[in-house]
Amino acid sequence: MVAISHEDIIKAPKALLHDHLDGGLRPSTVLELADAIGHDLPEPDAASLESWFATAANSGSLERYLETFVHTVAVMQTADALHRVARECALDLAADGVVYAEVRFAPEQHLERGLTLDAVVDAVVAGFADGCRDSAARGRPIRVGTLLTAMRHAARSQEIAELAVRYRDLGVVGFDIAGAEAGFPPTRHLDAFEYLQRENFHFTIHAGEAFGLPSIWQAIQWCGADRLGHGVRIVDDIVGTKLGRLSSYVRDKRIPLELCPSSNVQTGAVPSIAEHPIGLLHDLRFRVTVNTDNRLMSGTSMSREMWLLTQAFGWGWTELQWFTVNAMKSAFIPYDERLTLITEVIKPAYAKLGE
Ligand SMILES: [Zn+2]
Repeated sequence: MVAISHEDIIKAPKALLHDHLDGGLRPSTVLELADAIGHDLPEPDAASLESWFATAANSGSLERYLETFVHTVAVMQTADALHRVARECALDLAADGVVYAEVRFAPEQHLERGLTLDAVVDAVVAGFADGCRDSAARGRPIRVGTLLTAMRHAARSQEIAELAVRYRDLGVVGFDIAGAEAGFPPTRHLDAFEYLQRENFHFTIHAGEAFGLPSIWQAIQWCGADRLGHGVRIVDDIVGTKLGRLSSYVRDKRIPLELCPSSNVQTGAVPSIAEHPIGLLHDLRFRVTVNTDNRLMSGTSMSREMWLLTQAFGWGWTELQWFTVNAMKSAFIPYDERLTLITEVIKPAYAKLGE
């Protein structure tokens, strides 16, 4: 089989469910926005700033990794800045061949210069809409849904859940919680999850990234998560190819795993792409999806993640289509809209690519 090139993968339609808005800025945009508000950055130009982000994120030090977000979040504190970052996010994803994306961010982190939660969401949703419109005009149609994240160490999850529901017909398609797992179990936010369930709303939970099975179990069985953000530690419940009770449940119920290969390697959760449990989880037919997490910090893109997997596991168009359809089936937009993308966009394109 001829190896698939990175360029070929860019041409293929892709679906992305786990991407952080504050982890995907263009380095040049970080520079310009910082300059406009007088925020000090560690590097003076776009190229050195780009490598600073990757180096800090690769350092193995959580402190340095988190410092990267201090800078991106600092420059996303006005409506104009949020709109610009969201618009460019949609354009960049579309240019990489992503046809459907759910991009998440935590509104509570963007209030430092006086914006209200509603104003933050308005700016981001409008930015995505403009980015989608401009991309379509360039012949690269993309649909972007917004996920609102609450920080698991904070106490605003109920408020953010209500905000998400308030914007459900205006571009917000789901809810998420993120932040350090250890010491902050998802059950701390049970009220928010129960509220979302009563509202028939969708949510995912960052669980099982570095922290193990109890976090995954709580996310599913206590909180009722539709999907698992990462969920990679589900492999701790698999011995050889024998599944335990929890991993069986996750596979039987087709609970989607939002796997982020490069991000896991960077944070040390997994030693290398080739050793990433995505290989085993794919072979065991879990509902596996491939994601970017933080494109700027990981110096990556959706196409690059898929390309790295083809290199590490010898996968081809069959597997890439499977990941893409899995993601589309697991998206938070209505079923008929997911089906249209699968049957009219994704499957015809892969049928051609596989010829
Ligand atoms: Zn994440």
